Amino acid sequence: MQISANLPSPSGDKSHFANKTKYNSAMITENTLADLHSHTTASDGQLTPSLLLERALEKGVELLAITDHDTVAGLDEAHAFNAGQSAPLTLVDGVEISTRWHAYDIHIVALDIDRHDENLLVFLERQRELREERAREIGARLEKAGIPGAYEGARALAGDAALSRGHYARFLAEQGHAPDSASVFKKFLGRGKTGYVPNNWGEMATAIEVIHNAGGVAVLAHPSGYQLSAKWLKRLVREFKVAGGDAMEVVLGQQTTDDRNNLGALATLNGLYASVGSDFHFPGRWLELGKNLYRPQGLNWVWQCKQWTITK
Ligand code: AMP
Ligand code: MN
Ligand code: MN
Ligand code: MN
Repeated sequence: MQISANLPSPSGDKSHFANKTKYNSAMITENTLADLHSHTTASDGQLTPSLLLERALEKGVELLAITDHDTVAGLDEAHAFNAGQSAPLTLVDGVEISTRWHAYDIHIVALDIDRHDENLLVFLERQRELREERAREIGARLEKAGIPGAYEGARALAGDAALSRGHYARFLAEQGHAPDSASVFKKFLGRGKTGYVPNNWGEMATAIEVIHNAGGVAVLAHPSGYQLSAKWLKRLVREFKVAGGDAMEVVLGQQTTDDRNNLGALATLNGLYASVGSDFHFPGRWLELGKNLYRPQGLNWVWQCKQWTITK
C-alpha cells in the first residue's frame, strides 16, 4: 500500500527526513479511520498494548499510533499482537515527549520514529529520570499538604511504567480526595496547586531534534489543552514551527467545532501539517479510540509529510 501524497506541502525544509525513509506502506484515503495519539499501561493508559490494539480493531481504527509518555516500551508487544491478527491495522510507532516552553509543560507527539534509535532511547531514559524526580517531589509536596503515601500509591498503580500525574490523579480520586481525575488536577496537580512541581523538562527544540534524528515527525500535541490565551496559543504554534516542528494536532477526540476550525487555521497559517488523535487513556463515557475524529477538508495531513516507514 502507498501513502497518498498529492497535496501541496506546507513550507519548510524537510531535509532532516532525507535517507530516513524505507518504503510506503499505507494507503490513507479520506475515509481511513486514523487515530494517532493513544496510551497504554506502558505510561498512564489503562489498557495493555494488546488490549489497546484489540479495542482499536474493534472500533474500526485502521491507522493507529501508540504514543506513550516518554517511553516506547509498549510498542514491541503491540506489534507482536498486531502481527497475530488476520486483519492487522497499520501501527505507527510513536511517543509523546514532555517539554518546557516558558513555564508550560508542552507535549510533542513523535510519529513514525525508529523505536530502536539509540539517541532516542538515551533521551527517553533521561526523561524517565526527570519523571521519577518530579514524581517524588509531587509526593513530598502532597505529604506536606497532609496527604501521605501518594507516591507509593501512584507507583503501585503505575507498576513499571514511568510515573505520570495521571497516576497521581487516579490514586487521589480513588482515595476520595476529589470526585475524579479532572477535579484532582484542579485541586492538587494543576499549575500553581499544592502538588504542582514547576517543570524541569528540556526545550522543545531539543526534543524535535531527537525526533528528527530518529526519523520521526514532530507534532504539537493538543494545542488547545494548555489553557493558553489566544495570543499565547498563536505564539506557541509559531515558535514550535520555528523550533523545527512539522505538524500539530487539529482533530482531537473532544473539542468544539470552533476549536477544530481555529486549530486548522493555525496549522495552515504556520505551514504545519495537521494531525488527528483521541489521546485515549481508558474506556470512558466521552472518549474512545477513533471516536469523533472527523477530518475537515482542505488541510495537509501529517502522513503526507514524508514517506513513512511503517509496515504491516
Ligand atoms: P504528566 O505527563 O506526568 O505531566 O501528566 C500528564 C497527564 O495527566 C496527561 O497525559 C493526562 O493523562 C493527565 N491529565 C492532565 N490533565 C488532566 C486533567 N485535567 N484531568 C485528568 N487528567 C489529566
Ligand atoms: Mn496521559
Ligand atoms: Mn499530552
Ligand atoms: Mn497523550
